[in-house]
Amino acid sequence: MLVPVTKGAGNPDWTWDETLLALDLLYRHDGPIDRHHPDVIDLSKALRAAEIYPREGRKDNFRNPDGVALKLQNLLSAIDPTRGLSSSKRDKQTVAEFPASRKVELANIAATILYELSVNPAPTEVSDDEVFIEGQTVTAAHRRRDQRLRRRVLDKRKDMLICELCDFIPPPMTGALRESFFEAHHVVPLAEAKGHVATRVTDMALLCAGCHRFIHKLISSQRQWVGIKEARSMFAR
Ligand SMILES: [Zn+2]
Ligand SMILES: [Zn+2]
Repeated sequence: MLVPVTKGAGNPDWTWDETLLALDLLYRHDGPIDRHHPDVIDLSKALRAAEIYPREGRKDNFRNPDGVALKLQNLLSAIDPTRGLSSSKRDKQTVAEFPASRKVELANIAATILYELSVNPAPTEVSDDEVFIEGQTVTAAHRRRDQRLRRRVLDKRKDMLICELCDFIPPPMTGALRESFFEAHHVVPLAEAKGHVATRVTDMALLCAGCHRFIHKLISSQRQWVGIKEARSMFAR
């Protein structure tokens, strides 16, 4: 007997990242598509393969095509409440953050999330107040890139160690101690870099650890990308 399962009963709530992917799908088709549509099946496969949630604690029907199709309906209701279906707080937030006028930007973010999930199925933990508008997967990827490139950025700037935000210059001490103040920061939003291109050292800024924390917090609290120049203008007195 085939009973259509329309509820993710007992399954963990949709994350911000997952909801971004579903909303992108809704916009790409100008409306909901059903569980038989290949794009619904693809998204279901991608979400099931990703380990945004550990496999324990998921039911067999976790993010199955019915669940994805239902999420599209929920999101449509969040856009147009007269549709009568329920929508969660997160659905409403996602739609408010990404109205149809931002669907191109959302498509880039969705492509980046899917790419990063294919490379790293379980996104690294990042604290909630650091998560960019692009979601946890992209924020974690940003962090990994920052850490991976730190050595190369330091080597390149070793004659001029200065924070590009606050102009901090470390006191004269051994190289390793001077370097300990600094972190690398990717200056291009990953969704714009499309995730696929190799990161260049020229795309990185050298920031003191405090300023790096500050710019991530600024981006997450303003809910939009903030460049070095803009962040720097906030230091003007
Ligand atoms: Zn600084
Ligand atoms: Zn950074």
